[in-house]
Order: sequence, then structure tokens, then C-alpha cells
Amino acid sequence: MRGLADKVVVVTGAAGGIGAATARRLAEEGARVVAVDLDEERVRKVAESVGGLGVAADVSSEEGVAGYLSAAVERFGRVDLHHLNAGIPGSFATLPELSAAEFDRVMAVNVRGVFLGVRAAFRRYAEQGTAGNIVITGSIGSLRGSADLLAYQTSKHAVLGILKGAAMYGGPLGVRVNAVAPGIVPTDLFAATPAAAGGKDDMSRRASSTPLRRAGTGDDVAGVVAFLLSDDAAYMTGEVVSVDGGASIVSTVRP
Ligand code: NAD
Repeated sequence: MRGLADKVVVVTGAAGGIGAATARRLAEEGARVVAVDLDEERVRKVAESVGGLGVAADVSSEEGVAGYLSAAVERFGRVDLHHLNAGIPGSFATLPELSAAEFDRVMAVNVRGVFLGVRAAFRRYAEQGTAGNIVITGSIGSLRGSADLLAYQTSKHAVLGILKGAAMYGGPLGVRVNAVAPGIVPTDLFAATPAAAGGKDDMSRRASSTPLRRAGTGDDVAGVVAFLLSDDAAYMTGEVVSVDGGASIVSTVRP
């Protein structure tokens, strides 16, 4: 893909399934990876495996975001690209059972974390006098509803607001902002899906009823992230690209 070689790219949630796959793919394309995650041990292993820098940081705090950016600048001198991918599912509580504290916890990582990451990226580009670009990890839950993941899907809808505002602001500056919306990717994210919510088996069943009849992989998502970050996507901004085996086109109500 054009324009990725030698770029310095921050990947958040890089110890997880999708983030680690993105880190690997971007490194294969010649980028220099700054892998960021709460999980210090795992993120250092991912960084080591791609010859990049591993940083332990909490994306929901201003200190955490400032910390990973200054570590990146100290090591590589600048930051060009961002994959803002860290996220948590929250509990599978039904609406009457969902606590305000749990709602806030999910928003802090999935929305505040993305806001802080996007804002910091823009500030960084302005300081450098460069025009990088950003990919946010949304979800099929950015577009669809489900009864038992209310906080999660609200947070994933909210990041589309950040996406659109940032793409409008960034366009005249030459900064592109796009999102991927993965469907079902068996990572640790939903490993703890309770039996009452269908458990992991239900995930597989739902994946087998998508048009492509399988669950996605981290690599499936990573390829699209790399494309959006590359110059091959130079005329795309504010876009949400579904990477879900066609799940989002399926009607649950037959015509
Ligand atoms: P994962 O649990 O394997 O990875 C998520 C990573 O984010 C973890 O390593 C975790 O430590 C990290 N993280 C959580 N909170 C953090 C914080 N405050 N600061 C820094 N790091 C933090 O899950 P994944 O499937 O790889 O998820 C990556 C992204 O993809 C998430 O935003 C998720 O919502 C989204 N997504 C996943 C699926 C799926 O089916 N797996 C579907 C749609 C969207």
C-alpha cells in the first residue's frame, strides 16, 4: 500500500486481537509502530515482535494520551498516523439492570478515549506542521442495536460523531479521519460473553449466518485499517467501512 513505509503509527489497544493484527500489518508495510495498551506485558511483546515501541498507557486519561505521544516523539521524532482502537465491551446487563457507573466506565474508554486520542493527534500534527491521518475502530454496534449491550453500542454510535466532526475539521488541513466497523471477530473482547447472552457459541452461530458464513479475523480488519491509513485511500474521509462479512446488510425482517 502506498505511503505507509517509514510512517510512525500509534496503535491503541495493540495488545488485543485487532490492534495486534494492525500493528503486525502496518509493520509489514514498513511503518514504525508505537503499540499502546493498558496491558504492559502483552503490549511490550507485540511491540517487540514488530520491532516497534511498546507503551503502557490508559487512553481514557489525558496523562495516558500525553504519555504515549511523548514516548513516540522521543523515540521516533514525530507521529504520522493513528489507529484509535482500544475499547471495552462493558457488561451484558439488560437496560433496567445497567448501572450508571458501568455506563460511565464504557463511555470513558470507548468515547472519551477516542476524543482524547483524536484531539491529541490534531494537536501533534499542528505542532509538527504535517497532515497525518486517523482511523477509529467503531463496530457493527455503531450502526445496529442490541438489547443487552446498550452502553457499548451507545459508545460506538458516539464515536461516529467524533469521526464526522474531526473529518470536517481535518479536511481543509489535509487530515483524513475514517472508521472501520468490524462485525464478529473472536478476540478476548467477547470471551466473557455470558451464557444468558448466548455465550461464545451464539457468536459462532451468528457469524455462520452472515453472507460470508464465517467470523472475521484480526487480519481481516487490519488490512482495511492499513488501506484507510495509506495514500491509496487519499480521497476518503468521514467514512465508516464495515468489515463484517456482510452482516450489516442482512435484513432480520423478510420483505
Ligand atoms: P481485545 O479485548 O482483544 O483488545 C482490546 C484491547 O484494548 C485490550 O488489549 C485492552 O487491554 C485494551 N484496552 C482496554 N481499555 C484500555 C484503556 N483504557 N487504555 C488502553 N488500552 C485499553 O478486543 P478487540 O476485539 O481486539 O477490540 C479492539 C476494538 O475493536 C475495540 O474498540 C472493540 O470495541 C472493536 N470491535 C471488536 C469487535 C469484535 O468482535 N472483536 C467487533 C466490533 C468492534
